[in-house]
Amino acid sequence: MRILVTGGAGFIGSHLIDRLMAEGHEVICLDNFYTGDKRNILRWIDSPFFELIRHDITEPIRLEVDQIYHLACPASPVHYQYNPVKTIKTNVMGTLNMLGLAKRIKARFLLASTSEVYGDPEIHPQVEEYRGNVNPIGIRSCYDEGKRVAETLAFDYHRQNDVEIRVARIFNTYGPRMLENDGRVVSNLVVQALKGKPLTVYGDGSQTRSFCYVSDLVDGLIRLMNGDFMGPVNLGNPEEYTILQLAQTVQSMINPDVALKFEPLPQDDPRRRQPDITRAKTHLGWQPTVPLADGLRLTIEDFRTRLGDRVAKVPS
Ligand code: NAD
Ligand code: UDP
Ligand code: UDP
Repeated sequence: MRILVTGGAGFIGSHLIDRLMAEGHEVICLDNFYTGDKRNILRWIDSPFFELIRHDITEPIRLEVDQIYHLACPASPVHYQYNPVKTIKTNVMGTLNMLGLAKRIKARFLLASTSEVYGDPEIHPQVEEYRGNVNPIGIRSCYDEGKRVAETLAFDYHRQNDVEIRVARIFNTYGPRMLENDGRVVSNLVVQALKGKPLTVYGDGSQTRSFCYVSDLVDGLIRLMNGDFMGPVNLGNPEEYTILQLAQTVQSMINPDVALKFEPLPQDDPRRRQPDITRAKTHLGWQPTVPLADGLRLTIEDFRTRLGDRVAKVPS
């Protein structure tokens, strides 16, 4: 098949491309390199079955493909809040363009949505029927509400134009290739510990998240795309941790001597987050397989390599 991956030079997109290329597909990667990195897809650059297009999805584009994985959108709060209007344009105009493309060429379209559509959830764990508790005018809204509109667009293109859609609600995902300056909790803590700097815990660290290793997530996306179930479907690891527990785990795995440093909790930071993955289990036969300790080990090794001599020596 010929497959388009928008945001393919990013963290999840590049892991997805690795899988699709290994399965023998032809892949077109479309990215404006806002948070993506050419190095993530460098291994495929010379392949005759791979094509890289530098393009901003807020502008229309004409291509011919069988499937579209639509991932283009900055995912870390630091990046999506840097230019919030652009984040909204990417989610709304960008998704509209990709759905217009899917409609014209009759391609199947998968939207990478997010657990953020649940906002600061009052239902725990979160089931797909839950409609969320999102602040429409806060600093996270460009992303949360942007993704909610993206989901609406997908379902309306399905109802109005028969576009075959798939909607994944992705929960916090981590792994190799996260950006060093990403601002997300796993990359921040790992990089800080490797550099021998204090680990920043926002608030008292009692807020929770559930962390999915990227290979599990990619497996879920591919199953969703190729199955019959339209979604929305939660994809995430149901093992829930407080941020303090995560910081202590990273501390013990890398450097027990680094301190924890408590900083103010950002505005509208969700109190807790845990996916109910009954739908994914039932309809996709999917559930995560990589425990946090294993995934963290692989992530730490990747950062250690990339940081090189900036890694601090751990006293023995
Ligand atoms: P990422 O920032 O690493 O990747 C996003 C990619 O999209 C980057 O390569 C970036 O350059 C590209 N991009 C951004 N705006 C673009 C535009 N206007 N035109 C073209 N390309 C553009 O993020 P990620 O973690 O790989 O996330 C991928 C997708 O998954 C995003 O849609 C995100 O919302 C979703 N998601 C991720 C997580 C997570 O924990 N990583 C959780 C929920 C949802
Ligand atoms: N679009 C695109 N590539 C295509 C087809 C459409 O980028 O191959 C864009 C198109 O420019 C428009 C959007 O997708 O901005 C929605 O397209 P649609 O055909 O649904 O709406 P219309 O063009 O009729 O407004
Ligand atoms: N967080 C933290 N220290 C950091 C970065 C983030 O304590 O250095 C917290 C953040 O306040 C949030 C959680 O970790 O409660 C997850 O943050 P992230 O930005 O990774 O993702 P999201 O809030 O979008 O789930």
